[in-house]
Amino acid sequence: MRRDGERLRYVFDAGVHDVSGLGPRGPVTNLLRRLEIGDRLEWRRMGHEYVLPGFRLKVPGTGEELVRALQARFPAEREAIAAFFAEMEGIYRDLYAGVERTGGVPCPPRMPGEMLAYPCTHPYAFRWMNIPYPAMLERFFQDASLKRFLILLTGYLSDRPEALTAAQMAPLFGYYFDGGCYPVGGSQDLADALAEVIEAHGGRVLLRAPVERILIEEDRAAGVVLAGGQVHRAGAVISNADLLKTFLELVGQEHLPPGFVRRIEDLEFSTSAFAVFLGVDFVPDLEPVTLVYSEDGRGLGIMTPSRVDPGLAPPGHAAITLLTLVPRVEATTWDRRAFDYARRKREFGDVLIALAERVLPGLPGHIVFREEASPATFARYARTTGGAIYGPAAGHQWRPPAKSPVERLYLAGAGVFPGAGIEAVVISGTLVADAVYPPI
Ligand SMILES: Cc1cc2nc3c(=O)[nH]c(=O)nc-3n(C[C@H](O)[C@H](O)[C@H](O)COP(=O)(O)OP(=O)(O)OC[C@H]3O[C@@H](n4cnc5c(N)ncnc54)[C@H](O)[C@@H]3O)c2cc1C
Repeated sequence: MRRDGERLRYVFDAGVHDVSGLGPRGPVTNLLRRLEIGDRLEWRRMGHEYVLPGFRLKVPGTGEELVRALQARFPAEREAIAAFFAEMEGIYRDLYAGVERTGGVPCPPRMPGEMLAYPCTHPYAFRWMNIPYPAMLERFFQDASLKRFLILLTGYLSDRPEALTAAQMAPLFGYYFDGGCYPVGGSQDLADALAEVIEAHGGRVLLRAPVERILIEEDRAAGVVLAGGQVHRAGAVISNADLLKTFLELVGQEHLPPGFVRRIEDLEFSTSAFAVFLGVDFVPDLEPVTLVYSEDGRGLGIMTPSRVDPGLAPPGHAAITLLTLVPRVEATTWDRRAFDYARRKREFGDVLIALAERVLPGLPGHIVFREEASPATFARYARTTGGAIYGPAAGHQWRPPAKSPVERLYLAGAGVFPGAGIEAVVISGTLVADAVYPPI
């Protein structure tokens, strides 16, 4: 990007700004340690800030800071807040108890003895396993605006808070207990670090190489066929592509049990998103992850990773991403071929910039670079159904197991247990890698 003959460089992330699972027992820490690249990335803690009508909360760091900030804002709920966070931390720690026995990642009990002992060994997680998160809030709190605030934290997983259980929410509180972090250089650096390990061990990472078909021979996955017709044979295939596309397009119904096909077709996919990437000529006085909510309930994330990694923008500038969730039904109305697509995208971007102006007055006058991504953009680049950003919608719906009905075809990523988010997909990847290549 050039301005007045000066070359300006901003680095943006495709989406990920805040990574969990980096505590001492965290699955991401575990993965990097197992790959012997624990020191390859420098992680910086992301502070959070919440701006609601009539209510603003800065949480620069830890869970204790969040508790103190909430207690100061809601003094009548002081004890309930302490009790709620103690309970949530109990659930969170329970989920990660015993990770040493499962390759460093949390898993539900597998053996009958573990299942029987679960209520004693994991009392908090057991207590809240099937209780909806909103019901948990009702049990602890009276204050409606406090409950509204704690419901907003579900946005990292779903746009339907009622679909989430208290136990499913616990890892989100891990962002406070053990940190949400950003890798210096940008989230692409995490992918690059993993790709380096593959290549250092004789593997190759092919980019711009769309898989057109998963090769099935004698009812077994035997490799992949690329769009250009190139065939890559393999002893096993692991797909982290969208589930509907993996099974209905890449495998084909003829290779699958009809009941399984029906369950895949019935899956409800998650929300999509709209993003505006902005290079600006000032450094906002906001925490790197700031969430703003308007009176009509629209939520906007203002992500400024250059606050923790100034190398992402020129001195005195910032790289900002504005992000909002777009419900599934609305997401399907975004079509790149529509005659008014470019105008619609720009206008939606204007709406988000106007919302951001509530905390960044005069923002439009400081924009040096601007680009938008609509649900159609996410559908195009991540190749997901309806531009879903979190795979199948979180909640109680069925998800296929990592071992698919086709022999030697395995699943990883947001479509399978435990769901979406970097930490979650690291868990599914670790589990499937250990299943295909059991640790020595
Ligand atoms: C806007 C946004 C913000 C997010 N923010 C965060 C965050 O701050 N923290 C966090 O933890 N998580 C965040 N997430 C979620 C996180 O990015 C995902 O949960 C995670 O990346 C899913 O991993 P995955 O392996 O399932 O799929 P992906 O990361 O989507 O990888 C799948 C890859 O497969 C490719 N692919 C698909 N089909 C084919 C094919 N046929 N041939 C070849 N390649 C194919 C896709 O192009 C894609 O590159 C965010 C997601 C989005 C979209």
